[in-house]
Amino acid sequence: MPELPEMEIYRSHLERNCTGQTITQIEIGRPKSINVGVREFKQAVQSATLTGFSRAGKALVFHLSTGNVLLNHLMLGGAVFYGTKDEAPQRTFQVTFWLDQGRALWWTGLRLGWLHLLTPAELASYRADLGLDPLDEHFTTAYLASLLQGRRGKLKPLLVDQQLFPGIGNCYSDEICWTARIHPLRIAGSLKTDECERLWQATQSVLTDATARGGYTETPFHKGDQFTGGYLPHLKVYDRNGEPCPRCGTPIALVEASNRKVFFCPACQPEATPEISIATSARKSEAEPFLSADVK
Ligand SMILES: [Zn+2]
Repeated sequence: MPELPEMEIYRSHLERNCTGQTITQIEIGRPKSINVGVREFKQAVQSATLTGFSRAGKALVFHLSTGNVLLNHLMLGGAVFYGTKDEAPQRTFQVTFWLDQGRALWWTGLRLGWLHLLTPAELASYRADLGLDPLDEHFTTAYLASLLQGRRGKLKPLLVDQQLFPGIGNCYSDEICWTARIHPLRIAGSLKTDECERLWQATQSVLTDATARGGYTETPFHKGDQFTGGYLPHLKVYDRNGEPCPRCGTPIALVEASNRKVFFCPACQPEATPEISIATSARKSEAEPFLSADVK
């Protein structure tokens, strides 16, 4: 599923190519992808100009000249393509917006994804349910530490919780933990100050670097788009189980936790600092049965 970097890349592509263009015609191939009736949607969106684009966690916001917005979540497998009819991917389109310069925005793979028409107040309410964006200037080490403080849950499920770390998902949570040299299944509240600092640094560097290099989705935004997907070769652990850790050469491990795959290096992301191991070793086998069985 596209995460913060992928959606930032979409946002900049859209900003560059589509700002100021007017939506001349709309085709809805899958009415379930929108939140109002097809007729109402067309009446509200057709003839509107795209005035700008922003991001809300893993969702894109299309700002319209009418004052309303379109909130787009691609979920798993969704993609947006910009181009002429001849360039469009050979796939079924759930939504198509024809724009006044002769090209169109084509949405594909919106099986779980959606494109919703919202008022500014509805958008504000959606944003209010998300935590502070990890790339916001107020997202500091101290703020991150406050999110983890006292938490008895494991780090990975918290890192993908959109109310805490909006925009981070399965892939970048693992990349961030690897970069910070922290085991993704550590008890979140057990992280020390220096570990919170490392986690914050890793959050910033991984998300920024991935955005600058094109993210990991392989679906191009337009014909000849060589940028999108450029971060794929730079992933260190995600989907690389069995491959050598780029830092120490130990094979990358894969475990499952809370129904999620977790990729990490068992050597340079130790399960716990030695003093914590000693303190909890007596009840460890009870509390973390799958860890002792899977992490070797
Ligand atoms: Zn390693």
